[in-house]
Amino acid sequence: MLSFVLDRPGPNDAQVLAEVDRTIASRFRGLRFSAELESRYEAETLEQRRRFLTAVGITGGIIYNVFMVSDWLSLNDMFAYVALGRVFLITPLFIFLTVIVLRAKTRAVVEAAAGTGTVLCSLMPLVVMIFSESPFRLHYQLGMLLIMVYCTVIQQLPVRYSAVAMAFMLTFQLVTTYIADFADFQIWQANALLFVSTVALLLMASWFLEHGSRLSYLFALRGRLLQKQLLELARIDSLTQLFNRRFQGEVLASLWSRAAEVPMNVAVILLDIDHFKSYNDNYGHLQGDTCLRLLSGVIQRTANKADALTFRFGGEEILVLMTHAHPAQARALAENLRSAVSALNVPHPALGAGAKVTISLGVAVANAPQISAEALIAMADKALYAAKREGRDCLRCAPAEVA
Ligand code: GH3
Ligand code: MG
Ligand code: MG
Repeated sequence: MLSFVLDRPGPNDAQVLAEVDRTIASRFRGLRFSAELESRYEAETLEQRRRFLTAVGITGGIIYNVFMVSDWLSLNDMFAYVALGRVFLITPLFIFLTVIVLRAKTRAVVEAAAGTGTVLCSLMPLVVMIFSESPFRLHYQLGMLLIMVYCTVIQQLPVRYSAVAMAFMLTFQLVTTYIADFADFQIWQANALLFVSTVALLLMASWFLEHGSRLSYLFALRGRLLQKQLLELARIDSLTQLFNRRFQGEVLASLWSRAAEVPMNVAVILLDIDHFKSYNDNYGHLQGDTCLRLLSGVIQRTANKADALTFRFGGEEILVLMTHAHPAQARALAENLRSAVSALNVPHPALGAGAKVTISLGVAVANAPQISAEALIAMADKALYAAKREGRDCLRCAPAEVA
């Protein structure tokens, strides 16, 4: 009916909150959540990862091509091949993978595509280097360090993906520098040690980054769930579990501001328990509370079926609100409420043998915003008093003022 009313905690929100708390306490060193939390995490971070990886991918792609300056300076004899490879082979592939990142429906595809793009970038200049005679090859191959930093720290691939990408890059590095044979074996070993240690340190960084991002996701989710819970608490009456008077004010204000744009019929049913004072006086207030809770429950369930909202108006008075209501529908709902309470058969012997607890109801339907919410409630209140006067356990309708 009203979208903001429907934004209520889901039936398993409390379980999710408990699971979030458990996961935070467990420190999740394996960087995995429970199946349900993991799929929620992946779904809720998908869009943000897509945008992030596209933005850093475009920047990375531009910088990758700027490195043609380095190709020219360090790998001059092979420059034409490297340049052609960069522009006509790797760049189109990179664009294709970026499109996949933009369109992918799962985190796994997004991360795998981003990782593949980076691995491809690392492959081409190193392979060409094998055929170069340039004396600067030893210096040139250090560019790989930059690509490794990009993969782990800039793209921030999850550890599982960055580990696979780094394994490929390290292998390319060690194999191509070995084949290129640009220095003696001792230098190759020192070079290999440099790369193996870099990979180890960067994978540590990758773990910390993923852990941090998962942890901040958990805290954000926890905040959202707690806020929903608090909002719910702030709008519910603790005794009857109906919406409270405060929330009634918010709903009516919102309804009337919507009606200012698109006018609509609104029905108010105001109901009051009959002879409730004498019920309290005879059976005590605690028993009175139990009776009030019981009636509220059945009234709420009956109203819900008609897509109507139920508020504790005050004391033992309840307001039922229906939108887009025809007077006949409002009247039918009021009669359903009366008969549902009567069918509970809650004894009220103080009124005589066989007497039971009943309600009286006043119904008013009008076109908002022509009539204010206060005026509509006053009309229902007047009708309620008429029902009380005319014997109770019945309903009376205010003259309908509908469009
Ligand atoms: P009528 O049929 O005219 O409505 O008679 P009544 O006795 O219900 O009317 P009245 O307004 O005089 O009494 C309302 C009573 O409702 C008084 C109060 O003790 C009781 N009441 C209001 N709120 C609560 C509540 O939260 N718990 C309990 N137990 N009683 C409540
Ligand atoms: Mg009353
Ligand atoms: Mg009463």
